[in-house]
Amino acid sequence: MTAYGKPLPRITPDNRPFWDAARCHRLALQRCADCARFRYPPAPVCPACLSDRAEWAAVSGQGAVSTFVVFHQRYFPSFAADIPYNVVQVELDEGPRLTANLIDVPNAEISIGMRVEVIFDDVTSEISLPRFRRAAT
Ligand code: ZN
Repeated sequence: MTAYGKPLPRITPDNRPFWDAARCHRLALQRCADCARFRYPPAPVCPACLSDRAEWAAVSGQGAVSTFVVFHQRYFPSFAADIPYNVVQVELDEGPRLTANLIDVPNAEISIGMRVEVIFDDVTSEISLPRFRRAAT
């Protein structure tokens, strides 16, 4: 999604490795060092085992659409001008689900199970969600 005039997500000790990796065109997610479950968004404590030990793991950026919604300005008049746009949940091959924006695919062609891959745009203040496109087959 392109949100004009929106400030950069706040960089904190919790999510700095995510943005550092994104600037190097890699996708990294926080993972519990004890039970190995991914924590997304990053959290100080694992919601599954309550461990406070975490590590950052590289993930492929490949996955499939698990749910999606298309926003129309008629119903959300206060939203940005670049709508209709979509918000998809992408289930990565490694397991975690990311809320993302699917670009270069007409909204009518989005379907559950569609294979997608992350796009490593330069990190700017206008990008507020990870962006994905249809995976090359
Ligand atoms: Zn855990």
